[in-house]
Amino acid sequence: MPQSSTCVKCGSADIVLGARVLEQLGHDIRLRVDADPGALLLKGPALCPLEARVCGQCGYTEFYATDPAALLAAWRRSQESSKG
Ligand SMILES: [Zn+2]
Repeated sequence: MPQSSTCVKCGSADIVLGARVLEQLGHDIRLRVDADPGALLLKGPALCPLEARVCGQCGYTEFYATDPAALLAAWRRSQESSKG
């Protein structure tokens, strides 16, 4: 997550970092990328929660994956397997 200190929309410096993104039951919403989406069982999923960066003035919100490297690795594997 970028640590820049101002809102890109309104220029405010009042930024909330690391806000959690929860579903109604309190579980973290997670992103999922399957390394092998065509597999019946072992799809090689990479899962990671989202965090939000929220402007405390205008409310503009950006979402960030907490482990983008894991998602990228799974996605690259899926691209290789889709080429055959
Ligand atoms: Zn703002």
